[in-house]
Amino acid sequence: MAVEIPFRREFSFEYGRLEPVAPMIRRIVARNPSPFTFRGTGTYVVGSGEVAVIDPGPDLPDHVDALLAGLVGEQVTHILITHTHRDHSPAARPLQQATGAPTFGFGPHAGGKRGDAGVEEGGDWDFVPDKTLGDGDRIAGRGWVFEAVHTPGHTSNHLCFALPDEGVLFSGDHVMGWSTSVIAPPDGDMAAYMASLDKLLARPDAVYWPTHGPAITEPKDHVRAFVAHRLEREAGILQCLHAGPTQIDAIVERLYIGLQPGLRHAAARSVHAHLIDLVDRGIVESDGPPTIEAHYRSVRG
Ligand SMILES: [Zn+2]
Repeated sequence: MAVEIPFRREFSFEYGRLEPVAPMIRRIVARNPSPFTFRGTGTYVVGSGEVAVIDPGPDLPDHVDALLAGLVGEQVTHILITHTHRDHSPAARPLQQATGAPTFGFGPHAGGKRGDAGVEEGGDWDFVPDKTLGDGDRIAGRGWVFEAVHTPGHTSNHLCFALPDEGVLFSGDHVMGWSTSVIAPPDGDMAAYMASLDKLLARPDAVYWPTHGPAITEPKDHVRAFVAHRLEREAGILQCLHAGPTQIDAIVERLYIGLQPGLRHAAARSVHAHLIDLVDRGIVESDGPPTIEAHYRSVRG
C-alpha cells in the first residue's frame, strides 16, 4: 500500500555559478551537499538590476563571494529568509555587510526560545530579521512583488515566498522535490506541517522552487503525495502501538526498513513528531511527557 512520492532528483547546475533558471530567476548552489541538503543550498536571485536574494545559505565565504561576483553591477535590495536553519540564513550577515540590504523573515529561530541543549543543533540562533513578515505580507521591489506565506511545520518560523504574477512559489524546505521534509520536535511540528501542506493545496502557484534540488512543476500532485505519505506513516505507527506499548526506537526499527544508519536519528525525530501530534489529538498516550524516551500506547488498545 506504500504511497509513491514523485521524487525529482535530476538536477543540473554548476557549483559557484549564478545561473538563470527561469524568467526573472537565477540560482547559485552552495558547496554544502549532505544527506539533508541534497547537492547543497540553492540561493535564489529574483529580478535584475535591483534584486532580492532568497536564502543566502550557509556561512561559506566562497559561496557569498561567488554570489557577489555574479551580481557585479547590480544592487541587492532585499534579503529574504525562508527559515533559520544553518544551511539557509547565516550567510545573510556577510551578504548584508557587503550590500547593506535589509533582511526579511518571520522572526528568530524557535521564537528565540532555546529548547533542550543539543536538540536544535541545526538552528541559526543568531539571525534576527531587520523586518518581520507575517502571513500574507507583501514585499515590493523593482519589477517584482512577493507575498509571504507562513508555513510552519519544518520550523515554526518557516515562510514560503510567492511571486503571484509569475505563478511561482519559493517553497524553502517546506516542500522539496528530492526528499520529504524533516519534522523534528520541539520546533518542528507535525500538525502545523500538515496544515501548511493543506494551505499550499488551496493556492494557485504553478511551479515551486525549493531551496534544495530542482523545481517542482506539478506541485499539487507532489503535495498530495506528501500528505498521503504522512497519513500512511501515522497509520503504521498506530499499527505498531496496537501490538502493545512501545518506544520510538522500536517503531523506527519496524517502520523504516533498509534505512541508512546516518538517517536513524532523523527518522526517530519524525516518529516523535507524529506521536506528539497523536497524543495532542487524544489517540495515543505516553507515560509522562511525550519525550523521545517515553513509552507510548494506543488509547483504543
Ligand atoms: Zn531547514
